Order: sequence, then C-alpha cells, then structure tokens
Amino acid sequence: MMKEKITVFGSFAVDLMARTPHLPVPGETVKGSMFKMGPGGKGFNQCVAAKKAGANVTMITKLGRDTFANVALDTMTALDIPKDHIMFSEDVSTATALIMVDETTSQNEIVVTLGACETISKEDIEKVKNEIIESDYLLVQLEVNIDAVENVVKIAHENGVKVILNTAPARPIDEALFSMIDIITPNEVEAEILTGVHISDETKAQEACNIFFEKGVKNVVITLGSRGVFVATPDESKFIPAFKVNAIDTTGAGDAFNGGFCTALAEGKSIWEAAKFGNALAALSVTRLGTTTSMPTREEIDVLIK
Ligand code: ATP
Repeated sequence: MMKEKITVFGSFAVDLMARTPHLPVPGETVKGSMFKMGPGGKGFNQCVAAKKAGANVTMITKLGRDTFANVALDTMTALDIPKDHIMFSEDVSTATALIMVDETTSQNEIVVTLGACETISKEDIEKVKNEIIESDYLLVQLEVNIDAVENVVKIAHENGVKVILNTAPARPIDEALFSMIDIITPNEVEAEILTGVHISDETKAQEACNIFFEKGVKNVVITLGSRGVFVATPDESKFIPAFKVNAIDTTGAGDAFNGGFCTALAEGKSIWEAAKFGNALAALSVTRLGTTTSMPTREEIDVLIK
C-alpha cells in the first residue's frame, strides 16, 4: 500500500490526572482516590493515533530536560515513532496538564502549562526544516507558540507539502495563514470563533465553510462530535455521519479524528473516505478511557469500517 509521509508538528504534555470525591475549592486540600500519569498533548495524541493506524509518521515537538520527557521518549520507543526530531529546552520543563476529575459528576478542572512546547524558536525550526520539506503532509495544531506554527506552515506550503491545520485549542491566527492551508479541521466551537457562524445545521455549516473558502482555505472539515463531520471541497459538500458506539470518554476525540483522517489521506484515499476513516478511529477511541491509550489499532478500525 502507498504510504505518503506525515509529519506532526505540535505539543507533547504529560497528563497528571487525579480523581477525587469532590473538586477542591480555593485553599482546600482533598484526598484523591486515584492518580494516573500518561502521555498527552494534542500533537502527540494525533501522532499516536496515526501511528497505531499504520501511518508513516514522525513527530516534531519540544521537551524539557526532565523525567517527564521520558514519558514521551519511552512511548515513542514502544510505538516505534522516530525520535530524531525531538527538540529540548535546557531550562524550561516539559509541558504538563494537571487534571482533577470529580468522580461523582465527572466534571474536571485542568491546568495546562505548555513549558518547553511554547519555546520553539526559529533556530529550532531551522534544524527540523528538512524533515518538514521531505514530508507529504504536515499535520499541525495550535498548542505550541503561534509564531512557530506560522513558520512551519509557511515552510510546508512553500515546498509543496500539504498542510492540515487542526485549529485546537481555539485561538486567533494570522489571516495570511489561511491561504496556505489545504485542509482546516476545526470543531464546531472553533469554526464559530474563526468564522462568526454558529453551526446549528448543515446550511450554517456550509456558510462557515464558505467563509473559510473566502479566506483562502482549500478544503474544510468541521467535526461535530457524536454527529460526525461536515466536509466541504470547492466542488461538493457532504455530511459524513459518526459511527454509533457507546461513548464513555470523549477526551481526545478530535485528536483521534485528525490522526485517522491524515493517515487515510496519506494512503491515497479521497477526502470523503478519509473522513469516514477518521470517524471510525475516533468512534473507537471514545469507547475507552484516556487519550493515547484509547487509540485503536488498524485491525479494529478496519473491522468497524467493513
Ligand atoms: P475533544 O476536544 O474532546 O478532543 P473535539 O471537540 O475536538 O473533541 P469532536 O467534534 O467532539 O472533537 O469529535 C471529533 C470526532 O470524534 C467526531 O467528528 C466523531 O467522528 C468522533 N466522535 C466524537 N464523539 C463521538 C461519539 N459520542 N460517538 C461516535 N463518535 C464520536
């Protein structure tokens, strides 16, 4: 099978998750009932989703010189993801997400500290530039410093590398960037922030896509949670429904979709087939707890799609 090369440029963060009988109020200390540490970060989740789905994928991110960095490196070794393009900060720590979950209501409070992920400099990018240029797809999110995102998108675009921008987490981006994006993949909240259109139905979804087209984006995929995705190309738009599953944890669903979607495109599938593949990968991931740990294998995806 043809497998074009994907480079994921984005965040790695260690998820530090504690469950408690109730979330602490300011000044309160509560006793946790369970603690779990694991790899996360939007970029890393998407890379793991793609790798487990069989993609030829590399990760570019920046870590600190600390024990949390080993969580990334050990996971990459275990999954056989190349580590040659990991950058290190000598003085800023690896990104972390402190997650507290109320075990009764499932409500959470999260503090993300991007640390090293927010310090990707021009010089850092210069060192990994060739890796980007030699790729067929650049899959990028908005969870590292925005000037770095803008820089890599520009490099990719100028060198004929197809750019997929997942606009998560929502934040403003330079308008000049839109014309360099081959496929933008916002969720409905991000689509509304970027276009001003509240996506209440398919007509509104198309309206939002038209605004992206006017900005210069070539194709649009809006993820709509348990409903699926709305895909718009300049010639045709289609709603691709989600797979019906028993969802227990939708954290990282967007990352699962993006990893799967890009994997399928890199295998030469059409944007419609790729959206279906992304839906399948994401549907399987929401039936399990966690983010990277919930990403399914290729076999599982193929069984669901058949
Ligand atoms: P998150 O922020 O939780 O990672 P997101 O808001 O970025 O998610 P969503 O639009 O909620 O992304 O979900 C992404 C994709 O995951 C959907 O388009 C769909 O394919 C799949 N998905 C999400 N929730 C469900 C569900 N309950 N059942 C089946 N598939 C789902």
